[in-house]
Amino acid sequence: MTRIDTLLAQGPTISFEFFPPRDAQGEEVLWKALAELEPLAPSFVSVTYGAGGSTRERTHRLVVDLLTRTSLVPMAHLTAVNHTRDELASILTRYRDATIANVLCLRGDPPRDASDSFWELERASDLVTLAREVGEGRFAIGVAAHPEGHPLAPDLASDRGHLAAKLRLADFGVTQFFFRLSDYLGMVEDLAARGCDTPVVPGIMPVTNVRQITRFAELSGAELPAELTERLHAVRDDAAEVRRIGVEVATQLCQDLLDAGAPGLHFYTLNRSTATREIHANLGLSRR
Ligand SMILES: Cc1cc2nc3c(=O)[nH]c(=O)nc-3n(C[C@H](O)[C@H](O)[C@H](O)COP(=O)(O)OP(=O)(O)OC[C@H]3O[C@@H](n4cnc5c(N)ncnc54)[C@H](O)[C@@H]3O)c2cc1C
Repeated sequence: MTRIDTLLAQGPTISFEFFPPRDAQGEEVLWKALAELEPLAPSFVSVTYGAGGSTRERTHRLVVDLLTRTSLVPMAHLTAVNHTRDELASILTRYRDATIANVLCLRGDPPRDASDSFWELERASDLVTLAREVGEGRFAIGVAAHPEGHPLAPDLASDRGHLAAKLRLADFGVTQFFFRLSDYLGMVEDLAARGCDTPVVPGIMPVTNVRQITRFAELSGAELPAELTERLHAVRDDAAEVRRIGVEVATQLCQDLLDAGAPGLHFYTLNRSTATREIHANLGLSRR
């Protein structure tokens, strides 16, 4: 099965992120989006893992379905929260045995309604080490990066230090979404200054809904620039205009990232295809 580190070496990659649906209606929405996005021949697609392992089986099933039912190269997200080391090892073993070659290793956040979360593996880097052990050389391993710093980090410098150490153990990184090119470039520069040149793929979240993006930005610590907020708020009751601005702004950010030498573009699709397809077309990206 194709490894993402190999694809990145040939880069730039184009990738799409999905979440496992909760019910039959969600399944329909997801598979419609997949059918519309598969013809773009993305380099890979990724499947998130629910907070606290809540989508454990659904993530596994979708990743294996993507491998067996489509031409897509899947990557499984896995979070350490609320799992013992043995459980994580057994999930990784199942992926290895199913010939899934790509895993994104994350610490995970506690589910919002749970007060008793635990971590046996305390950091994402501990999960990377476990995945290396279980994968016996067969996993390409990715990790998360936060261009504006992880929201709980005491300061940016220590966060960058931990990120550089984690990326050295991994094969590649994928970022949280962000809106300012300078945040991504600043992170890459900081990592280079720490001697870390592991490729980090920027994550792109096209704005299609003002309320939703404001909530996501609050949760993730990504800052919505004042200029973008003003433009969006001026048209907030006109859904088509919000989408048009969102696609325009994301297209420009993607172009600037590619011009600056980013190793790929990773789109947060939220299981919809339209905005991603529009940006893909605007960028004139050939099928890969
Ligand atoms: C691309 C991407 C995909 C994601 N997918 C999912 C998903 O599928 N499911 C989900 O639940 N969540 C997902 N998340 C969210 C992620 O789980 C949270 O952002 C989580 O809070 C941090 O995860 P991490 O892997 O970056 O943690 P870590 O790398 O462990 O970092 C967490 C914090 O610990 C600090 N730290 C790290 N190492 C050390 C150390 N040695 N000493 C002291 N402090 C340290 C860091 O600075 C940071 O503040 C995703 C995030 C991104 C960017």
